Amino acid sequence: MEKKMKGDKTDMGKVAIYPGSFDPLTYGHIDIVERALVIFDKVILAIAQDAEKKSLFTVEERVEMAKMIFKDSPNLIVDSFKGLLVTYVEKTNAMVLLRGLRATSDFEYEFHMASMNRSLSTHLDTLFMMTSKDYFFVSSRTIKEVAKLGGTVEGLVPDLVARRLKEKFKLPVTKKRLIGWDD
Ligand code: ADP
Repeated sequence: MEKKMKGDKTDMGKVAIYPGSFDPLTYGHIDIVERALVIFDKVILAIAQDAEKKSLFTVEERVEMAKMIFKDSPNLIVDSFKGLLVTYVEKTNAMVLLRGLRATSDFEYEFHMASMNRSLSTHLDTLFMMTSKDYFFVSSRTIKEVAKLGGTVEGLVPDLVARRLKEKFKLPVTKKRLIGWDD
């Protein structure tokens, strides 16, 4: 017998919410999205407008970049939210939160967050996907640190993001990068 759960909206298909700061989006995030789109009918990339954490890119900039990067993925919806994640999730038809795990160091924080979210919203599950071997060392924080010091982040973030990082840190943008960011 199929189990009907609270908030069941099966006609919308299987929807997962992938929340995060995405400041900025990296190929590590994109890899998780692409793999999740094989499992779910729709994935909502929910960009947090975090009041405490000072982000490099504004939420509007992060949303705009994500929309451009996923312009050819109709099943990936870019959205932003403010405040409690569970409050945002309640307004959508998603049943699953999606998070990525890179190392055991991610586990403790993610375990606490997943447990807290489950306590706040008992029908909400968090699904974890392991990073791909190519991106286990990629984080938005290290990408920003490297970019700020003028190091190359090519192959770790889309060209659009690499270009925007250079603009933020007022580093010269090469002609090659000005031509297509879409790789
Ligand atoms: P946060 O939500 O803590 O601000 P991020 O926005 O950087 O974190 O990332 C959102 C989610 O993506 C988190 O679950 C994070 O662990 C995961 N993630 C980040 N980078 C990678 C990566 N390289 N591979 C797999 N998962 C990742």
